[in-house]
Amino acid sequence: MVLGAAARVAIVGCRRLVCSSSHASPLLVSSQCRQMSMDAQSVSEKLRSSGLLRTQGLIGGKWIDSYDKTTIKVNNPATGEIVADVACMGVKETNDAIASSYEAFQSWSRRTAGERSRVLRRWFDLLVAHKEELGQLITLEQGKPLKEAIGEVAYGASFIEYYAEEAKRVYGDIIPPNASDRRLLVLKQPVGVVGAITPWNFPLAMITRKVGPALASGCTVVVKPSELTPLTALAAAELALQAGVPPGALNVVMGNAPEIGDALLASPQVRKITFTGSTAVGKKLMAAAAPTVKKVSLELGGNAPSIIFDDADLDVAVKGTLAAKFRNSGQTCVCANRVLVQDGIYDKFAEAFSEAVQKLEVGDGFKEGTTQGPLINDAAIQKVESFVQDAVSKGAKILLGGKKHSLGMTFYEPTVIRDVTSNMIMSKEEIFGPVAPLIRFKTEEDAIRIANDTIAGLAAYIFTNSVQRSWRVSEALEYGLVGVNEGIISTEVAPFGGVKQSGLGREGSKYGMDEYHEIKYICMGDMNRQ
Ligand code: ADP
Repeated sequence: MVLGAAARVAIVGCRRLVCSSSHASPLLVSSQCRQMSMDAQSVSEKLRSSGLLRTQGLIGGKWIDSYDKTTIKVNNPATGEIVADVACMGVKETNDAIASSYEAFQSWSRRTAGERSRVLRRWFDLLVAHKEELGQLITLEQGKPLKEAIGEVAYGASFIEYYAEEAKRVYGDIIPPNASDRRLLVLKQPVGVVGAITPWNFPLAMITRKVGPALASGCTVVVKPSELTPLTALAAAELALQAGVPPGALNVVMGNAPEIGDALLASPQVRKITFTGSTAVGKKLMAAAAPTVKKVSLELGGNAPSIIFDDADLDVAVKGTLAAKFRNSGQTCVCANRVLVQDGIYDKFAEAFSEAVQKLEVGDGFKEGTTQGPLINDAAIQKVESFVQDAVSKGAKILLGGKKHSLGMTFYEPTVIRDVTSNMIMSKEEIFGPVAPLIRFKTEEDAIRIANDTIAGLAAYIFTNSVQRSWRVSEALEYGLVGVNEGIISTEVAPFGGVKQSGLGREGSKYGMDEYHEIKYICMGDMNRQ
């Protein structure tokens, strides 16, 4: 993930990311903002009347304002327009959410797996039934193209379906005993109340892949979505209530991130913290989880290499790298951050890749044909601009793009830069924008060394037609996920997560369920007594 704490309180686009007691009317246009496109305007009116545009937090099954009535403004990154004012919550609301979650845990954890499964299944059905509205909400507050946003809804919902099924498959063990008068059993039990802190780049999917396995296991949850994109989280929570998730089993509080985070971390009732976001914040949360010894799962930043070997199929490498780099305008932690290209194919790849990138359509996510939406805010644009400037000043050459898009706001031109080297910032840090740096390498050993020369270890991609090389390189890469001749590899059925400083734990698949369980060993003695 991208932006540091300083960015959080900076003026971003048209609004200030701090709680405010002013109740500016939603849909208000400030002088700095572009006029909201008609599509976005009619969408937000429709969403308002559908009941899915929620602006209050959810605590104990009730929609409530922040206790001091402060709000934060949510804006549309494509226009800067204010879409809604949402409750800006802090310590008190979070403590109440934890208390309601703790109470709900007593009954939710005792329901049968089948009962929990049916509730989750109904939630999945509702998410799918409302995929258009949820997709529209994602585009409205996050900016990604509507088609991609609806794709995120399908992806996000798939975690709820998967864990509705998995709820019924949480098996324990019976261990052959070490003494004839004993019986040894292993039970898997839910950890308890979970605090889930999520980012803005996938406003739905980053929540469902935490809440799905948590609820399936019998845990209850307090979700803190990003203050940039709370609307999707609130709509999903509304559908969860409609599906029969009981009051308190799922709470949503948003607003003052450090306050909410501190309250979740300080509470001995919260037994697990699950987080997706920046490495810097993840480290803080991990340290703050120590005094109460909570379980911690972290999905942090990446620095994914996409390695193109001389023996790769050029078309496959171009398509795969394009998808891995430019999905969500380069704002994912599994985005190809460095494109490593072998000497023999470097020029051919640079030309074919630039041609493909040139065809990407930048625009408002609601406009038909758009494939690249805006970046999330001004700080994101400034970061991309400074990385590009740094690379050019050290000798890199821009093949395509390299500047803000003529649409203004936070739109940036899809960019390809060649002759990037390891001393440039974009080789070391996440760009989180639509910029593809091409780095040249000579041998397979060089590629592996460059790829692993980072503190991150989330996703890596390799493109080669050699089966032996696929194995060799996949095994040598210090990454949690490897795509071989594939640029999009995330799915609910496979484990997602990083090594090194990219995180701890896995999400999705049967492995994702383990994160929400405690293992209890029971030794039954005196079994031979008559
Ligand atoms: P990004 O740079 O992508 O915004 P962050 O790590 O800053 O990534 O944000 C990810 C999530 O972490 C968001 O929900 C944000 O509000 C939250 N967050 C940021 N700082 C803190 C903090 N000190 N304590 C708890 N949550 C935080």
